[in-house]
Amino acid sequence: MVISADDIRTHAQELGFNLVGFIPATPSAHLSHYLAWVEAQHYGEMGYLARSDRVARRRDLSLILPDVRSMIVVGMDYRPYIEDQSILNDPARGRIASYAWHLDYHPVLLTRLHTLASKLGMPSPSNKCYVDTGAILERSHGWQAGLGFIGKNTMLIHPRRGSYFFLGEILTTHEIDTYSVPHAESQCGRCTRCLQACPTDAFPKPYVLDARKCISYHTIENKGWVESSLRSRFGNWVYGCDVCQDVCPWQRFTPHTPPEEFHPANFTTVAPWIVDLLRLDDATFHQLYHSSPIFRIKRERLVRNACIVAGNWGSEEAIAPLKHLLNDPSRYIRGHAMWALGQILKAEAITLIDKALGDEKDHELISELCHTRTMLQPYC
Ligand code: SF4
Ligand code: SF4
Repeated sequence: MVISADDIRTHAQELGFNLVGFIPATPSAHLSHYLAWVEAQHYGEMGYLARSDRVARRRDLSLILPDVRSMIVVGMDYRPYIEDQSILNDPARGRIASYAWHLDYHPVLLTRLHTLASKLGMPSPSNKCYVDTGAILERSHGWQAGLGFIGKNTMLIHPRRGSYFFLGEILTTHEIDTYSVPHAESQCGRCTRCLQACPTDAFPKPYVLDARKCISYHTIENKGWVESSLRSRFGNWVYGCDVCQDVCPWQRFTPHTPPEEFHPANFTTVAPWIVDLLRLDDATFHQLYHSSPIFRIKRERLVRNACIVAGNWGSEEAIAPLKHLLNDPSRYIRGHAMWALGQILKAEAITLIDKALGDEKDHELISELCHTRTMLQPYC
């Protein structure tokens, strides 16, 4: 069966997709770029990105869906307008990346992709839908499908919408009567705003992101210790980071009109108070974030991140909840809470560290505490 591109476009728009394109199911044009990124180990602890079976699927999409012929790529805007922008930069609040201000986008997009496939008469064995989770180089295929260009910040940027949109794909065994023309390679020109604005210098060069230095990677993917030299550069980001997108001049075209599901219910998913995050227990975490992308990192990582931001905030208001966290069951929370207390109390924190070292049996945590103690010596 050959599917009409016009039919796909019509149904996709009815389902609320803002962008749509169609490509033959050939390997990504940026495969060599990706392989070089893997070779340089820029993926950090996201070892699944370098797994040979996943690399093989990126090379050959028929390993994902036998007899695959085409890919439909869609985009959906997600950034609503926030009336009071000042809350985003308030150091007493923990800032959350805008893609997580609302309901988890995976089920929202997947449901609509399945509906799209069904409206097009494609039974499930003849297609596979993905939102962010498949072994697919989404942004590269998005470029190939004409949805935008890949910027120096590695994001897919549409010249009339910016980059605040989600991507989704349908792989199908059907042909499409017209395929899209790839977008121009890059429209960054001489601009380097994103590279200069990154708080952690995570771009070794344009179009290459070293995840090991990225705030987004550390606050979301890193399950353990955050390198101490990076912590003070996190500012107030507790989940993700939008800096290299916010500064991009193409964002002036962002349509702040996403679907209802992508409007935040309240500030707890935009910029919650740090002291509230430090006091989160499992039950409250579940209640507040069970339907948000934040739920994936669990309470432990969110509170660990909040400790880092509390240290950057430097306010005495954080001292009591941080001291309470020194008894938390998580070694990572205890260690990052002590680091934050060191940032606020300076030399006074050494007494706390020495007491903790006297009681501590965890070797990793002992090493972390000793490191924090050493960092505080200049204040003695
Ligand atoms: Fe840098 Fe933030 Fe962009 Fe990561 S998300 S590369 S930390 S600006
Ligand atoms: Fe390109 Fe400038 Fe946007 Fe970076 S900020 S992606 S260099 S246009």
